[in-house]
Amino acid sequence: MRRFGGYIAIMLALLLSACAKREEPLYQQQLLTFGTLVEISIWGADKSLAQHASSQVGADLQQMHNDWHAWHDSPLVRMNRALAAGESVTVPVSILPLVQKSITLSRASEGMFNPAIGRLIKLWGFEQDDLPIGPPPDLKAIDTLTKQRPGMNDLILDGSQLRSTNPAVQLDFGAIAKGYGVDLAIARLRELGVQNAIINAGGNLRAIGKHGDRPWRIGIRNPRGAGVLASIETRGDESILTSGDYERFFEYQGKRYHHIIDPRSGCPATGVISVTVIADDAATADAASTALFVAGPQRWRETAKKLGITQVMLVDDKGRMVATPAMAARLRFEVDPPPKVTVTPL
Ligand code: AMP
Ligand code: MG
Repeated sequence: MRRFGGYIAIMLALLLSACAKREEPLYQQQLLTFGTLVEISIWGADKSLAQHASSQVGADLQQMHNDWHAWHDSPLVRMNRALAAGESVTVPVSILPLVQKSITLSRASEGMFNPAIGRLIKLWGFEQDDLPIGPPPDLKAIDTLTKQRPGMNDLILDGSQLRSTNPAVQLDFGAIAKGYGVDLAIARLRELGVQNAIINAGGNLRAIGKHGDRPWRIGIRNPRGAGVLASIETRGDESILTSGDYERFFEYQGKRYHHIIDPRSGCPATGVISVTVIADDAATADAASTALFVAGPQRWRETAKKLGITQVMLVDDKGRMVATPAMAARLRFEVDPPPKVTVTPL
């Protein structure tokens, strides 16, 4: 009888764990790709579908990483070489949407988002696998490149034929590639029948659907110190992206030099340490977060309006937080005491 009771206990435990699984059919997978940690969360799909979809997304992202890489030998690097030599190139299919989107978004941001400044990014040491250790580059070299004013307006795109009228143009899609990659990954999940998911590429994410009967809740990283600064509940299909000076930087003689370059000065943008943007698609949110970071405390509102962005949270270099009303209404602070936020209409 005691043995029989043991079986019942085991059966009950199995049954309970099966029930627990049915209540919480959340599948999560972490992948190291795209030069970052990518987290895939899928809710409510059959486990084999979720597994298949995640591995497909992993393969897609790896392919994009290879196609769009700015310094390893890649189709982009080869294209840049030809453009600099004044040749007309046929843009590879995988790169064409990035070029098209970047021309539009760069124009709308009045050049704050400017993926044509690859040479400056390289000069600062951010086009390499290891972080630079300093010193910062020679001022003269910065000045020479900045004065050549490489911009997306220097490009002439005719169908898939591209040429540049400025030999200083070197494309680096670091400010939009993760976002666009996340968009493509979400499209792949949908195509495979997944309706509720988050793809999060190092804090840059797009969410679709829900987490069961409640919305997905996502965290925004604290730009100084570890952990989450605030969380947001997503509404249907939304992208939330952050640009921060903590992502890639080096310190030299007590000063931080980070990877977001102001094309006007040729130096790391000043005045802001992080910008979070919510938009419909991740490519737009990605380009916008970089553009607003560059635009800085004085000009970000104007740039947001031009880009059609209404939900913004910005932390300036004094640690002060500003948010648009549409964003402020959604923030739940996860730090104690909650910070003071200046709510400002655009
Ligand atoms: P994000 O983290 O999205 O703000 O992107 C930063 C990355 O974009 C950098 O590592 C550079 O590769 C690139 N980048 C830096 N400054 C700019 C800029 N002003 N416009 C476009 N891309 C930039
Ligand atoms: Mg960006």
